[in-house]
Amino acid sequence: MKAVTPIKPSMVRGPAALDVQRVRRDFPILSRRPDGRPFAYLDNAATTQKPRPVIGAMNRFYRRENANIHRGVYALSVRATEAYEKARAKVQRFIGASRPEEVIFVRGATEAINLVASSYGRSKLRAGDEVVITTMEHHSNIVPWQMVCAQTGAYLRIAPIDDAGKLDMDALEALIGPRTKIVAVTHVSNVLGTVNPIRRIVEVAHRQGAAVVVDGAQAAPHLPIDVAALGCDFYALSGHKMYGPGGIGALYGRYDLLKKMPPYQGGGDMIRSVSFEGTLYADPPQRFEAGTPHVAGALGLAAAVDYLDRIGMVHAAAYEQELLAYGTSRLTGVPGVRIIGTAPEKVGVLSFVVENIHPHDLGTILDVHGVAIRAGHHCAQPLMERFGVPATARASLAFYNTREEIDALVDAIGKAIEVFG
Ligand code: PLP
Repeated sequence: MKAVTPIKPSMVRGPAALDVQRVRRDFPILSRRPDGRPFAYLDNAATTQKPRPVIGAMNRFYRRENANIHRGVYALSVRATEAYEKARAKVQRFIGASRPEEVIFVRGATEAINLVASSYGRSKLRAGDEVVITTMEHHSNIVPWQMVCAQTGAYLRIAPIDDAGKLDMDALEALIGPRTKIVAVTHVSNVLGTVNPIRRIVEVAHRQGAAVVVDGAQAAPHLPIDVAALGCDFYALSGHKMYGPGGIGALYGRYDLLKKMPPYQGGGDMIRSVSFEGTLYADPPQRFEAGTPHVAGALGLAAAVDYLDRIGMVHAAAYEQELLAYGTSRLTGVPGVRIIGTAPEKVGVLSFVVENIHPHDLGTILDVHGVAIRAGHHCAQPLMERFGVPATARASLAFYNTREEIDALVDAIGKAIEVFG
């Protein structure tokens, strides 16, 4: 049974029950030694590495189980269909959805949000209505809403954040009113690491009759997720950010809402019957899964979910909190380094700028020293503007990272400062 209370990083501090060296052996790429030297992969917010069970599940599918699903009458196709539907049920359990039909397989978090904006958003919004988002959104949770607002005459409203990167809840509450039809908010910021108080946001939004869409791309890799406890209406997941394959993700939607929503794309597999006079659509989730799906991806995502269940998200989160505290104190000690994103509730994302060094130059030098970080606007240009920087460097942590890798990061920053500073 899942806990009813959503677990926040502050609730999981404590001794970490995670053997990191053992975990690292599950990820073949982590033993890679370019130039014979250790390599620190600290770009997990961009994509995570894949454990053996995920690689194995996809490999096994293509070697032994590959067939198209849902339409085949032969055994191989029936088995592939069963495996795909079992994968859906695993994702359902992992996020605490009440039935498998509430899980729609999509390409990733971007497609999940576009699906909600195009289907729910376009059918619900009228001229003068409002969609509320926040300053810390990824472009995937900005642009689809801008598009649907342009199509319907609705307005986009932006809730501000403070200098630590914490959402201004008073301002958000003041923005949400009778005209608000949708509140779309990230659970965890990909730049700041901030964890937003989704349950509270849901309470405020629901009081005004607005639906809540949560971008969970950066939360699912770090926190246990329970959509029932959060109470949200939609929740977007990205497979490749939660140790699963690329090109697969999932949208959770409340079944009563999905049932009333028009299709997002038309084609095969989303219909009950087609004639030239008209088409009857299938029920969710098939209604939203037109075309041949990424079957191997769904099986890989299910294997990732099984793997995360075995690790235990609570243990992973506790370990990452320790690593984040260590990384924060080490980076704070480097003269000229400024961390961007210091909210009290945050996950292992360390965005920072270094005086006199452009983040891109820093990223290149770090790479020479075997440390992979990301530099740029991180698909969050309005957020960069909020902090008055064109870009940041970002080290983002996973439960397979170590203190030694943080030390390597800090040493390499020191070397860059010697060159540029
Ligand atoms: N939302 C956030 C917060 C992200 O960080 C990302 C990817 O960086 C996305 C959405 C897009 O996810 P996907 O790659 O699954 O489309």
